[in-house]
Amino acid sequence: MITKEPNFLIILSAPSGGGKSTILSRIRELYPKVEYSISYTTRPPRGVEVDGVHYHFVSEAEFLQRKQQGDFLECAQVFGNWYGTSISYIQSQLKAGKHVIMDIDVQGAHQIGETEVPCIRIFILPPSLEVLEARLRARGTDSPQEIQKRLSEAEAELQRLPEYQYLVINDVLENAVDDVLNIIKAEENKMCRYKAPALTFLGEKHDRQKD
Ligand code: 5GP
Repeated sequence: MITKEPNFLIILSAPSGGGKSTILSRIRELYPKVEYSISYTTRPPRGVEVDGVHYHFVSEAEFLQRKQQGDFLECAQVFGNWYGTSISYIQSQLKAGKHVIMDIDVQGAHQIGETEVPCIRIFILPPSLEVLEARLRARGTDSPQEIQKRLSEAEAELQRLPEYQYLVINDVLENAVDDVLNIIKAEENKMCRYKAPALTFLGEKHDRQKD
């Protein structure tokens, strides 16, 4: 029987307001093989966010202790707060046969790209800077200064685009979701994920002939 190395990390990065959390939730609804990586953060919870569901909300002291213990596959400061991905959680999900999807910034994506962990990196962009600005305004959660900060941050993040294998334009949400899902499915069938497929296939034929 032909087998493959089936599981990998799916890294989604996007400017703030790029729509990645909505895409991520839709992917999880449509494809249960994909599990979400719950990050640790020192940022306080916002609105409806629940500890242990959206993030593990921890103090800076706890975060730095975990960082020193080597608990994080990657970690970075974003907008003045710490964020990190738990190694043990990722390992347990990969072992359980899941792909792990994560919403992390460009620094974290870079750090994971430097490791041996199998991952695909997807950048999500709105169709234009104007659309991004309009979406940030429509969200109604950020002050005009905050919006300007996020827009200039987005410009800086674009410098890291060459580090990603895929770019998905989030114009119509369901199309962007389809694109990400198609990328995941295509990645599952990449030749390099199979273990010696031709030999295994022919081996079965030879085994039958011996019987
Ligand atoms: P927010 O506070 O709005 O949820 O996220 C702010 C930024 O932090 C986003 O760009 C998000 O992708 C990033 N982020 C969330 N979790 C992690 C993480 O575990 N590691 C890194 N490097 N970035 C993260």
